[in-house]
Amino acid sequence: MGETLFNKIIRREIPADIVFEDAEVLAFRDINPQAPVHVLFIPKKKAFATLNDVGAADAELIGRLFLAATAWAKDKGLADDGYRLVMNCNAHGGQTVFHIHLHLLAGRQMHWPPG
Ligand code: 5GP
Repeated sequence: MGETLFNKIIRREIPADIVFEDAEVLAFRDINPQAPVHVLFIPKKKAFATLNDVGAADAELIGRLFLAATAWAKDKGLADDGYRLVMNCNAHGGQTVFHIHLHLLAGRQMHWPPG
């Protein structure tokens, strides 16, 4: 996978409002939030351009992203009202940064279909 600005955030070469970090996962607030709470959870050590690059051997890492997001949502008191977790893939999914990331959106009513 090529260099992305999310790699630069991992290396602290560009600033980000980091809200969570462990050995595998980094989470920071989206620069253009689409909800009162909008946080991106990304893998730190092994990055993939898109979900299409994820294989069976990566199942635990993908699970860690989801568990980091749900644990953070619970810790911040967002779980009862609810939230949305989204991963966009390629053009039709609306992906713009090619380092997979899990969006956590919360703090307002979401709608379906998303449009
Ligand atoms: P995608 O459209 O690929 O699913 O999501 C990429 C997200 O990254 C967008 O919501 C966009 O606002 C966010 N983003 C792009 N550049 C930066 C940046 O430099 N810093 C932060 N914190 N978020 C960014």
